[in-house]
Amino acid sequence: MATATQVQEKNSLMTGESYLESLNDGREIWFDGEIIDNVAEHPAFRNAARSMARLYDALHDPDLQDDLTIVDQFGNRTHRFFTPSYSAEDLRRSRTAIDIWQRINYGWMGRSPDYKAAFMAQLAEGHSFYGDYADNALNWYKKFSSQGLHLNHVLIDPPMNRNKPRTETREVYVSLDKSDDKGIYVSGAKMVATGCALTHATFVGFTGGVAAMMQEGRDEDMALVFIAEMDSPGLKVISRPSYEQKAVSPFDSPLASRFDENDAVMVFENCFVPWENVLIYRDIDRVKQFQAESGFFNRYNLQAAVRLAIKLEFCIGLMIKGTEASGTNNFRGVQAAIGELVTMKDTIWALTTAMVNDPEPSIGKSVVPNLQTAAAARVYTTNCWTQVRNTFETVLAGAPSFTISSVRDMDAPGLSHIIDTYYQGTGLEGRERIKLFNLVWDALYSEFAGRHGLYERNYAGNKDQQRMDALRWATMRGQVDGYTGLVDQAMSDYDTAGWVHPAWKN
Ligand SMILES: Cc1cc2nc3c(=O)[nH]c(=O)nc-3n(C[C@H](O)[C@H](O)[C@H](O)COP(=O)(O)OP(=O)(O)OC[C@H]3O[C@@H](n4cnc5c(N)ncnc54)[C@H](O)[C@@H]3O)c2cc1C
Repeated sequence: MATATQVQEKNSLMTGESYLESLNDGREIWFDGEIIDNVAEHPAFRNAARSMARLYDALHDPDLQDDLTIVDQFGNRTHRFFTPSYSAEDLRRSRTAIDIWQRINYGWMGRSPDYKAAFMAQLAEGHSFYGDYADNALNWYKKFSSQGLHLNHVLIDPPMNRNKPRTETREVYVSLDKSDDKGIYVSGAKMVATGCALTHATFVGFTGGVAAMMQEGRDEDMALVFIAEMDSPGLKVISRPSYEQKAVSPFDSPLASRFDENDAVMVFENCFVPWENVLIYRDIDRVKQFQAESGFFNRYNLQAAVRLAIKLEFCIGLMIKGTEASGTNNFRGVQAAIGELVTMKDTIWALTTAMVNDPEPSIGKSVVPNLQTAAAARVYTTNCWTQVRNTFETVLAGAPSFTISSVRDMDAPGLSHIIDTYYQGTGLEGRERIKLFNLVWDALYSEFAGRHGLYERNYAGNKDQQRMDALRWATMRGQVDGYTGLVDQAMSDYDTAGWVHPAWKN
């Protein structure tokens, strides 16, 4: 790792202010029937953008700078997870940096810039994998890490014709229109680009599962991996509804009103991508390998697990305060349920500890979290949110629905004494109780919460794929042979005549 004495240190990391300014670049974000002028100021996006901006300001906070940032091998100061790790200690410190960032938004923004850093950081060591496009990969690493860019990614094709060969879906899936001396032109759609309106560029690629289905001699025009800047001509973002805009007030929707990462459909219509942004061009072999080579899977699961652990801490806090308010907190079954939430958070944290303390070699001299621990974290974390929601539904039961219609009721003449008398909790005034349960509602039951449930379950790929990957890797690494070997060994202890093994024979 370079130090300031070896290379002149440069700090080009964005601040919150420059990040917000950078979003005003003429990008084509469709919302509510029109193209948004500036996302950083639009009521559907502006608070989410400000929440993201706080992360950039933290990079410049003298009290946090040492834990959050590092000077990379090119002399650029960057977030610790935006550059490769070369030891368990590096990974531990990266985990701390992820943790600090995630706490700023209480674990409620999954696609903060550290998510795609899981991939982009590895380009520093892994650029040569991209052959003719290796320089592009290295240049993107430098640009990404030195400024702390925010990238979204789209890896999934639209949910149509999953049962047909890709050539039959060419009209819809992203594919090559043409190329010239300046770059490539692509058309098609990809899903879903979480938070993309707030990012600088979109990374367009594939999951291992989708890439595995591609065929040489047939799918070359779709075998493309590239980075499209958000203001690329022909790139259109079709937003879903904004829960931020629907929020009546922060009092009513304290999470949706500031942490809503709009999941958008990304449409490319003869979109121009310059050659310097292309990483893989009509190369099925590389498309099949690049995810595994990159260490992305191992690393994104570290970021995601840290993020979820913090979200769970927040929910445990909510549950404790909620049960205290209802006076149910000392009941045996309630304590057991809260204890279970604590163990879920602790299990996730233990998985991150295993991921950082027991790394495996990756590209170049870098190390990444162990693949199988990352696979276990992926399945455990995507399962556990459903259980969290079940626990809230049974333990807080109907308490969150004992509420009012909006903050405007608080000052309505005639309602004041009703709120003060009938809405109070144990040791909590009516107004404070409503404030607390509005937060519970937004976290677990609102439209924003429903989207979070869907996100936690699916963001890391469909349920079957998550499990099939775990089995495939255990098979590839010889562990499945070990498992069947254990059964063979047990069966060799005896036969039809009785015990074969001397321990039991006589
Ligand atoms: C809120 C949210 C945000 C997300 N953000 C992003 C993002 O920013 N970027 C991104 O790339 N992805 C993102 N995703 C993930 C992605 O969009 C998909 O939802 C996810 O990968 C699951 O794939 P799918 O929805 O296409 O399900 P499918 O793959 O269609 O699976 C649906 C069901 O069909 C089964 N199935 C599918 N194919 C087959 C087959 N060939 N044979 C047998 N069974 C099959 C599956 O096992 C599953 O049970 C996000 C998802 C959500 C919900």
